[in-house]
Amino acid sequence: MTRSRPSFIRLPRASLAAAFLIALAAVPTPAQTPAKTLFGAAKEPAPLASRAIGSYARGCLAGAAPLPVDGAAWQVMRLSRNRNWGHPVLIGLIERIATGARSEGWNGLLVGDLAQPRGGPMTSGHASHQIGLDADIWLTPMPNRTLSTSERENISATSMLKEGVREVDPNIWTPAHAALIRRAAKQPETARIFVHPAIKKALCESAGNDRGWLRTVRPWWGHYYHFHVRISCPAGSEGCKNQTPPPAGDGCGKELDWWLSDAPWTPTKPGEKPKPKTPLSMADLPGECRMVVDASAVTAPVQSAPAQSAPMPRSRPVR
Ligand SMILES: [Zn+2]
Repeated sequence: MTRSRPSFIRLPRASLAAAFLIALAAVPTPAQTPAKTLFGAAKEPAPLASRAIGSYARGCLAGAAPLPVDGAAWQVMRLSRNRNWGHPVLIGLIERIATGARSEGWNGLLVGDLAQPRGGPMTSGHASHQIGLDADIWLTPMPNRTLSTSERENISATSMLKEGVREVDPNIWTPAHAALIRRAAKQPETARIFVHPAIKKALCESAGNDRGWLRTVRPWWGHYYHFHVRISCPAGSEGCKNQTPPPAGDGCGKELDWWLSDAPWTPTKPGEKPKPKTPLSMADLPGECRMVVDASAVTAPVQSAPAQSAPMPRSRPVR
């Protein structure tokens, strides 16, 4: 829908003044700049005490730590995005999962997006990943060599799905994939893990009697090239909002049946495109995020940030 422009010619003086004020109000002010523009421009963390502020899809991160781009058992992918930042508790967890998984046949982690240096909404992809407590981990094991920057930009992850069905491909999905997700789910910090429903199904089928951890593994759209680890609010993160815990049980029954049916994959009104969401403004975030985005940096940039940015998965609703 388009709106016709007001005609000033026939307006009385008072209306003209009102129209002028309205026009002034329409000029974007810094307060109305999308928060993703401000947070996306921050190249370094806010030099404040480490703290996740707000909720996973509405918040920011103070005192972020970088996941080193090369570690004992991991490599960070897509370096140009500069999204290998997280709360130190998340960084420690990823390092622990990476080194521990080697004992179960997983060579090492290829790590996708964590958060921006100050968290906040991202310029592309991801509704969540805003408070430094979310991480995407590829379902492709790390190779036995250090990848070049260009390889980290361009290598594609492997889909776990069999073409045309909601099932994992038995030629691609292995017990080591299942063991890696189980390991991540069993960590005390982990609140939720998101995987494609077909992966949840495979996990349900192979879990045997050890099933408590399955409660944490949540089916969701996407997540068949990578899985998503979300941790609970760390101690000392005042103003960090945990999600309601997942429903009791292993989630392998009716809920999974629904995910594997056509219902979640059929648009409610065929042909209707979802309306584009208004981007979050600073006013939508906790007030303290203003301090986080404005804090002057004290260190030189840690990450190189080449201009090219890689394509991102389309954003998802909050879950
Ligand atoms: Zn994610």
